[in-house]
Amino acid sequence: MKIIMLGAPGAGKGTQAQMIADQYKIPHISTGDIFRENVKNGTELGMEAKKYMDKGELVPDELTVRILLDRVAKDDCRNGYVLDGFPRTIPQAEVLDKEITEIGDKIDYAIDVDVPDENIIRRMSGRRACLSCGSTFHVEHIPPKQEGICDRCGKELVLRDDDREETVKNRLGVYHEQTQPLIEFYTKKNILKTVDGTQDMQDVFAAITAILES
Ligand code: ADP
Ligand code: AMP
Repeated sequence: MKIIMLGAPGAGKGTQAQMIADQYKIPHISTGDIFRENVKNGTELGMEAKKYMDKGELVPDELTVRILLDRVAKDDCRNGYVLDGFPRTIPQAEVLDKEITEIGDKIDYAIDVDVPDENIIRRMSGRRACLSCGSTFHVEHIPPKQEGICDRCGKELVLRDDDREETVKNRLGVYHEQTQPLIEFYTKKNILKTVDGTQDMQDVFAAITAILES
């Protein structure tokens, strides 16, 4: 099963993608996590990506597409994957579509986790991220068992640099301008499914599994 998660930054794509990955035993692939891992390790790719991430802008398509295609070509992706944060532009979606079609395959679902802008800023300021395993928590809604520590891998949780209010506002603008057109793109391909992302995370997940198992 090949799934794309769509939605504004902070809509809950990563939270749901991880739950899908655990339930269906497929890899959770987040381009944001790949970039953050590279920033943490001080690689050339990380240094290049950081210039854009810190401003809340998108990393150029050419770089992002290369990273993503390398990742989905790995063996663990043979039975499917859930993409979180990719594609984010029409050209990215077109390249992915072309590559997948060429190998005689297809994306099964594009799931839009719908959350209005008013809710997003509050969600982002409370987000705490693990830069080691990519898990995310929320100080009020989804608190870790031990404050500041990742439930999944035991490492420290941080407020991401790009989750500050000014950067989040910019990221929302970038989302509406460059990423939202993907909703129409996948509607035309008849694979778009929308879930109400303002619900409790278990209810969002129930709505998603109902779609995947219908
Ligand atoms: P995205 O991957 O779309 O940027 P995340 O999955 O990281 O978003 O979620 C953003 C923040 O909102 C995180 O702090 C997360 O714990 C929290 N969150 C995710 N889903 C829900 C939900 N259904 N209700 C409340 N908070 C949520
Ligand atoms: P995320 O963790 O998905 O919120 O992504 C964090 C940041 O990484 C984004 O604000 C972008 O700067 C960059 N990024 C992640 N995925 C992409 C993508 N598909 N295209 C361009 N930039 C991306």
